[in-house]
Amino acid sequence: SNAPRSISISISITNLSRCISTLIIAEHESGSIKPQTVSAVVAANSLGENSSISLLLAGSGSSLQEAASQAASCHPSVSEVLVADSDKFEYPLAEPWAKLVDFVRQQGDYSHILASSSSFGKNILPRVAALLDVSPITDVVKILGSDQFIRPIYAGNALCTVRYTGAGPCMLTIRSTSFPVTPITADSESKKATISQIDLSNFKEDSVRKSRYVGSSTQDTERPDLGSARVVITGGRALKSVENFKMIEKLAEKLGGAVGATRAAVDAGYVPNDLQVGQTGKIVAPELYMAFGVSGAIQHLAGIKDSKVIVAVNKDADAPIFQVADYGLVGDLFEVIPELLEKLPEK
Ligand code: FAD
Repeated sequence: SNAPRSISISISITNLSRCISTLIIAEHESGSIKPQTVSAVVAANSLGENSSISLLLAGSGSSLQEAASQAASCHPSVSEVLVADSDKFEYPLAEPWAKLVDFVRQQGDYSHILASSSSFGKNILPRVAALLDVSPITDVVKILGSDQFIRPIYAGNALCTVRYTGAGPCMLTIRSTSFPVTPITADSESKKATISQIDLSNFKEDSVRKSRYVGSSTQDTERPDLGSARVVITGGRALKSVENFKMIEKLAEKLGGAVGATRAAVDAGYVPNDLQVGQTGKIVAPELYMAFGVSGAIQHLAGIKDSKVIVAVNKDADAPIFQVADYGLVGDLFEVIPELLEKLPEK
């Protein structure tokens, strides 16, 4: 069956008995905190009763300060927002940020350090873990207590229960799709965390940098973010060209959804690689996932298995995608998509 099996692996022997104090490496952009950071806050709340949660925001200038004041009320459980304002943190390069997390940790005695499993968190947290000589636990999908976590292995085909028994802080990356953010009630909205500016006068950073910021580009699109969209429309290799892939984009527009793609479609150059869904792409968990011309390879399914409703259109009745689909249509996408586009009302 496709249901993940549970395996228990204990990776060490002692127990975390300190009180729980969590530092979350926060991600922000254009003066706002990113939803995946709030998911990490939701996750931190499952670590135990009476835990304290601090958010660490680094960057420079007014957009950092704007993000900090927003972060202070992003979730009622956040008690403190720590702000590192310096041009050293203008770009999220792992080297200075990892040093910063270590610097902050030395002053705070944190039992847990969390980041989301986004490219940002996956870039920074492992480097901090190496600095602290700690084994990080990545892609956590469930928290069973302060030292026990569930994470997928074998491309999501099995779930592994891991117990942390190291001496240093327990370091986790969190899959945001597994920790949805519930809307904050009017009452708790008024609860604001304190904002403290970190004194960086003693912050030492290596002058040798192995990485250099080159540039960043964002897709100029009105469509929702793939990682948090409620509807995702995915196209596979069968789309055959950039031109044909526009049908998927039109359908996504009509349904107010995000566009996804298989690795085969990305490798063929139909769409950029930030649209790839799966084991080596984005993990999605929408209300509705529609797959057109997607075979359903195990590496693709690893990224979609938490979707609420999966709809598949494939001309091969034996395609593996039909084993996980809630609704399947054996048919030619070049007939089905135009028909859908015609029958669906304008948005
Ligand atoms: P195919 O497997 O070629 O399937 C195309 C499907 O379209 C077929 O089922 C066919 O019947 C159907 N079709 C053809 N014409 C039509 C038509 N006219 N109408 C309807 N249906 C039609 N893949 C990912 O997607 N994401 C990942 O993150 C990922 N990570 C990987 C990591 C590793 C280490 C490896 C080894 C592989 C990874 N892959 C990943 C690749 C994965 O194994 C598959 O090769 C890939 O998902 C296949 O993409 P596809 O379904 O578009 O193409």
